[in-house]
Amino acid sequence: MTDIQLYNTRTRRKERFEPLDPANLRMYVCGPTVYDRAHLGNARPVVTFDLLFRLLRHVYGTDHVTYVRNFTDVDDKINAAALARKQAGDPRPLEELIRERTEETIGWYHADMDALGALRPSQEPRATEFIGQMIAMIGDLIEKGHAYAAEGHVMFRVRSYKDYGALSGRSVDDMIAGARVEVAPFKEDPMDFVLWKPSDGDLPGWDSPWGRGRPGWHIECSAMSHELLGDSFDIHGGGIDLQFPHHENEIAQSCCAHPEGGFAKVWMHNEMLQVEGRKMSKSLGNFFTVRDLLEQGVPGEVIRFVFLSTHYRSPMDWTDEKAREAKETLRTWFRLSQPEQPDPYGLHSVVPGLANDLNTPEAIRGLHMLATHGEGAQLRAALDLLGLTPSSDWWCKGKEDRSEDGLMVGLGWSGSRSSDEIDLAWKLAFRWAGLRRDRNYPAADALRKAALLGGLELRATKNADADAEILDSFDLTALNGMGLE
Ligand SMILES: [Zn+2]
Repeated sequence: MTDIQLYNTRTRRKERFEPLDPANLRMYVCGPTVYDRAHLGNARPVVTFDLLFRLLRHVYGTDHVTYVRNFTDVDDKINAAALARKQAGDPRPLEELIRERTEETIGWYHADMDALGALRPSQEPRATEFIGQMIAMIGDLIEKGHAYAAEGHVMFRVRSYKDYGALSGRSVDDMIAGARVEVAPFKEDPMDFVLWKPSDGDLPGWDSPWGRGRPGWHIECSAMSHELLGDSFDIHGGGIDLQFPHHENEIAQSCCAHPEGGFAKVWMHNEMLQVEGRKMSKSLGNFFTVRDLLEQGVPGEVIRFVFLSTHYRSPMDWTDEKAREAKETLRTWFRLSQPEQPDPYGLHSVVPGLANDLNTPEAIRGLHMLATHGEGAQLRAALDLLGLTPSSDWWCKGKEDRSEDGLMVGLGWSGSRSSDEIDLAWKLAFRWAGLRRDRNYPAADALRKAALLGGLELRATKNADADAEILDSFDLTALNGMGLE
């Protein structure tokens, strides 16, 4: 069996991965709060942990890996989005607007992440379906002295958990100094965080022993992971921005409520994403969503390939140049590999890299090697494992305009065409356009007829000097003899 090494944030080193139960491997990843389209940065953990999911399924078997990623569908941002719609004149009750907003956003999320080649997790629990478990866990924490109710809130007593801060390697006092902690009169300590808060008016709320209210964000993941994966499980993942306070708080809650279990064994965090060397932000004008890119014609597998080109623990820079290069590389690879039946021998070129803490740059070097050696069938198997499968036939279609010697020519083709074929088609199209410019119509017409017999259609158009189309019957050998030299 392949040995997998993973970097564990908690121990700050790469470790040999040993599942608690190889027949039932369990992974939890913090999912999105569903109030808006996923921006490009939101897609990085999705692609990272999808790749890990694929690797684990490959090594341990498809049916032996459970991957849970939640939807946070109760949150002040969702309420605000629904409230804005109501204030804009929508007559429906807030509750209905909130449900509509979350349903719509979950639909968008699925469509966008599917486009990136991400497999759907085994389970995608929604926080609102686990409120009972959250209330039970909060009650348990109060009983054990780790939480207290005050003014309709329930707070976690951070100082009651001696290992708080172990994940990020900081002491509680360091964290207080560095964090923006909210001071509230009902807190015993400024570090204490919310497990439950009151809901008034028509905000979403559930009855609880502490009054009508709603859960804090952190308790959602602790309650859902416990319900679906148990007291202890193998891997917990998320973006590095969640390490503190979200993951520290999850650990505190889960380890205090279920001290007999160890909660997550391996903690993995992906680094952040930048755009053209700068932090992505609305104020810098470089903020965009996954959907924006897809609509600009960047195929999902191209976005995925750009992501995989950087190791997940390094900051990643999205640039248009990288996207262009990725598209050309994938075009070549798809042309070489798509008609082939996958040959699993090709996996030897990528699995060692992936098993080395998801070293995707190393795996991509393996793909380049296979392509260089013309191993189409092996390349196909390796690309499939990385989730780099064409979403449409963009890679085998071409439409390009070129100008040369003051002539403008368009060339279109479909299907897998070699660069020799495409080069020849350009030459013939420019030659034809040149003859017509010189008003040598008999020669132009003879060329057009001969080209058509060889599978290249030449047309005059309004906007260009020539428009050429490579047909299915294109015959390189026949056309090569047309006196172009
Ligand atoms: Zn979480």
